Amino acid sequence: MATIPWLVEVLRADGVEVVEEGDWQNHMRPGEFAPIGVLWHHTAGPPSSAENPAPSLGTVINGRPDLPGPLAQALVDFNGVFHVISAGRSNHAGKSGGSGPIPAGDGNALMVGWEIDYDGVNQQMSPAQYQASLKATAAVLRRLGTDAEHARGHKETSTTGKIDPSFVDLAAMRAEVAKLI
Ligand SMILES: [Zn+2]
Repeated sequence: MATIPWLVEVLRADGVEVVEEGDWQNHMRPGEFAPIGVLWHHTAGPPSSAENPAPSLGTVINGRPDLPGPLAQALVDFNGVFHVISAGRSNHAGKSGGSGPIPAGDGNALMVGWEIDYDGVNQQMSPAQYQASLKATAAVLRRLGTDAEHARGHKETSTTGKIDPSFVDLAAMRAEVAKLI
């Protein structure tokens, strides 16, 4: 599998509100992409709010000076809307150290990434972000044919000490995803 062109369709089918960002079907990094799981992140950017729900959207689409975009397949805004950015490989995971059924290796090939837009230090995930992330993760894992253990947090797979997503119990999130699958 080189791309997941079905991403928007499966999210909407499970009741996730979606905004398609730009030419998301063709905005991707070169290289392998054969995902078996989903990786959860927080953006660690400016705080989000109902009035400014996606302050890191431009960065996740376009990247940073040190890391070209896209930086995830989707960004989850404060109100729980999924902004779909890429149907292909994105620079979100770096190297995987291995976690649960996700092996060590090329994290960007192994996982679909959600950048959940909250700062993660002074701000936790909003209830709408939490609920939308559960639904979207279940939708994608069902399509991939893998189970809820294939949803991981970046802090579980990182080899460089990432802390995201903070303020959430990842085992509890997986249990909720399992119910939805
Ligand atoms: Zn991350």
